Amino acid sequence: MEIPQDELQLIRTYMEGELTGKTTFDNQPLEMDWDNAVYSEGHYEIPLLSPLNGFVPKYQDVETRLLVPCRKMEEYSFMTLDTEEIIDGFRFSELSSDTDETSLDTYRYMNFSKDLQPGDFVYKRATASDPNAYMPVQCEPATIIYYEKDCTWISNLLQNCSGWREVGRQEIEICGTDGIIGGNYNEYYIVKRDSTFIDTKADCIYEKLRNSSEGFKKMIQKFDYTFSVSDLLFTQNNNLPSGNYGRVLPPQNGNITVEFSNMNLGMISDLGSAVSFAHEIIHAEIYRKMLSAAKTGSLDPNNMSPQQQIDYVNNLRQNFPGLYDYYIDRFKPTWNHNMMAQHYIHSISNIIKEFDNNRLPSQVYDDISWAGLKILEDESESIAWSNLSGTDQDRILLNLNNYFHNGPSTCN
Ligand SMILES: [Zn+2]
Repeated sequence: MEIPQDELQLIRTYMEGELTGKTTFDNQPLEMDWDNAVYSEGHYEIPLLSPLNGFVPKYQDVETRLLVPCRKMEEYSFMTLDTEEIIDGFRFSELSSDTDETSLDTYRYMNFSKDLQPGDFVYKRATASDPNAYMPVQCEPATIIYYEKDCTWISNLLQNCSGWREVGRQEIEICGTDGIIGGNYNEYYIVKRDSTFIDTKADCIYEKLRNSSEGFKKMIQKFDYTFSVSDLLFTQNNNLPSGNYGRVLPPQNGNITVEFSNMNLGMISDLGSAVSFAHEIIHAEIYRKMLSAAKTGSLDPNNMSPQQQIDYVNNLRQNFPGLYDYYIDRFKPTWNHNMMAQHYIHSISNIIKEFDNNRLPSQVYDDISWAGLKILEDESESIAWSNLSGTDQDRILLNLNNYFHNGPSTCN
């Protein structure tokens, strides 16, 4: 809808006066992004350059908008939405209304009054009418784990923070259409680990990754029980061939299962195991994105109607252009590892650098991230690997030998 510019200008003058000197909770000025203002019937929505975040970890993607009712400027409020993909033209005010024609299947948001007091934390998800769809409509139990940390501020500057500590747990029921959870909490994530996985080397590596790497935590959190298309389940499989540290099974019944061979992980360093772990989580992440585009709980085209197949491809193109490029446009059976070799070396490298506390030169972390990405399933070389110079390849192989296959291992 066209934005009436004269009314917007009035609002702008008024709001700039109102918000002067006010800040977000982490002391950023409340600046508004007028170029991306959205107008809908009844409301103007103006994004803030720094969000007001009172309910999810800082590193998750949230957007805050200033909501200004038409012709009642003084009744403005704020709304923060936690979401990965906000499409152009999307209106936050739709979320509070009863009609549920939003493009999002699940969402959580928090309203803030004009004096920045937080209101309820609201969680909603759309009811799935298809009995085979990925979003169960029955009530299901979930555990919310509350964490806190103490931080010191001097003159608006963050001095230091303690580590996160668990301060409580709550068993809740999440039911099909919506639920409202009051209160504030900082962080939670839920991954299923089965009994064969607990206390193994893989579990020890997982625990260390979670506690050391923000990037890793961020990836895991996207599988968060209540807001994801799928759960992540870790299990053990010691029957994988030698040199094979883990694998991810295609999504089934709302689970993406990641199997680890503790037998094979036992043959390599902790650092090498962390590379393998991060590698498998990226496979799971790719499946998660595909599931969220497929919206049918399965990636098997045989389980999709022709219309669902078309929607799937269109959703991939719109929401995950990188995936679309490899999976549809330039499809090859080995697309997964080819894409990872081209685009994910740095993600893996950053994760293991934090895991290893920067003990080694950063080149080493980049190099050993190539594990599993040089040679593809069909024995051919990945495109990214074959584009490297001989000198680079030799150095990578040497570092793989010294730090992936060999090196300290305290997780056993
Ligand atoms: Zn792989």
